[in-house]
Amino acid sequence: MNKQDILSLVKSRNPNESEFVQAAEEVIVSVWPALERNPEFTRLRLLERMLEPERMISFRVTWLDDKGSVQVNRGYRVQMNSAIGPYKGGLRFHPSVTPSVLKFLAFEQIFKNALTGIPMGGGKGGSDFDPKGKSNDEIMKFCQAFMGELARHINHRLDVPAGDIGVGSREIGYLFGAYKKIKNEFTGVLTGKGIGWGGSLIRAEATGYGLIYFAENMLQEKKDSIKEKTCLVSGSGNVAQYAIEKIIQLGGKVITASDSTGFIYDEEGITQDKLEFLKDLKNNRRGRIKEYADKYKCEYHASLEGANDNPIWNIKADAAFPCATQNEINARDAAHLVKNNVKIVCEGANMPTTIDAINILIDNGVMYSPGKASNAGGVATSGLEMTQNYIGENWTSKEVDTRLYSIMKDIHQTCLATAKEYGQPGNYLVGANIAGFIKVAKAMQAQGVI
Ligand code: NDP
Repeated sequence: MNKQDILSLVKSRNPNESEFVQAAEEVIVSVWPALERNPEFTRLRLLERMLEPERMISFRVTWLDDKGSVQVNRGYRVQMNSAIGPYKGGLRFHPSVTPSVLKFLAFEQIFKNALTGIPMGGGKGGSDFDPKGKSNDEIMKFCQAFMGELARHINHRLDVPAGDIGVGSREIGYLFGAYKKIKNEFTGVLTGKGIGWGGSLIRAEATGYGLIYFAENMLQEKKDSIKEKTCLVSGSGNVAQYAIEKIIQLGGKVITASDSTGFIYDEEGITQDKLEFLKDLKNNRRGRIKEYADKYKCEYHASLEGANDNPIWNIKADAAFPCATQNEINARDAAHLVKNNVKIVCEGANMPTTIDAINILIDNGVMYSPGKASNAGGVATSGLEMTQNYIGENWTSKEVDTRLYSIMKDIHQTCLATAKEYGQPGNYLVGANIAGFIKVAKAMQAQGVI
């Protein structure tokens, strides 16, 4: 089979799964040179095998809302690939969750986890449940009902979920409590746990901090740094908050943040004090980002339904960090970034850039890194949380942060070295996909046709 045949097969086997097909296409095209060099990988159909989940669980989640009405949602867990370790990947609670979204995320997770150097397979799960506007009690009841089914499919040696969009420390707490009660065991079955009950210091910060460590490594390649760079960040959740914090610490200036209702443009820059306000707004009061603009008297732009570009990417800056969701940078947005001379686009979210947009950025010399490399700090630190749970130790913040930094540096080097080996120096997309693919392919090859 050639790459076009494999892509056609993926499309026909997964009709109406545009997100999964998009993620598959990006990987198929970029890992093809590795298959050409390794005919055994082709004969064993390793790429086709990676494109099929090992197991996909779909279940009903029934719960009672505060009015006593019965609510019905769908829950899922995609156990995508366990060649190099137990399934590992977050849970997403968002109305846009479908099998296609979770399969794309689980597929990406295979390569990301392989890049961290920690033995973790790929998985992802979640529900179409919308946490927005729900009371604390409703969130708890939903989490308990969700875990009522998920618990029979996971354990700390088999599949270890974590958070993602809509699943933060509050939800992990309720999910963990429910698991512990159902299974009558206290194990590290979830990561992102609270400090004091099995969680790791720096896990909350890890994805955002790791993203900026990665960007700093990319810039250093050009004898440059994040210092004094003007940065665009999208999102205002976990990844965005800690990306902003690390940029501030390294002397950069962040001028935007967003949520699903709109974005703020703070020309003066988001300071640590303003960031603390944003964290409280989003993590505790669960408010809308417009409140930031009202408080600090800066510009606010509401999201426009059906708009064919995202105006946050048309603000003049040196660096862009998409940290909200998939496909938030399309070809028009990429053209705006190029026109404004953005030097670097480093993905905090998973697949925030469409394939057309990636090609525009790379063709115009913008340094670009895919989320599977630059946002791997979150799952890497989850891996460190699992290690601490296994050996019964708690490492200090400094220890975890040092390990996180060195993992991001190693991933950066691996991407660069692999891209060079395959004749595409500086292409982080090719480097990340091929390096992750080869590691998993070799493990699958060694384990036989199963
Ligand atoms: P959060 O739920 O904490 O924050 C998500 C942010 O993105 C919120 O500001 C949310 O706005 C916004 N958002 C979500 N969906 C949309 C949408 N459809 N349109 C516009 N804005 C949207 O999630 P995280 O910060 O954890 O995750 C953000 C991204 O990073 C995701 O792609 C996730 O998969 C990825 N990621 C997360 C990791 C982690 O450790 N948490 C690890 C690696 C990747 P609102 O408040 O209105 O919902």
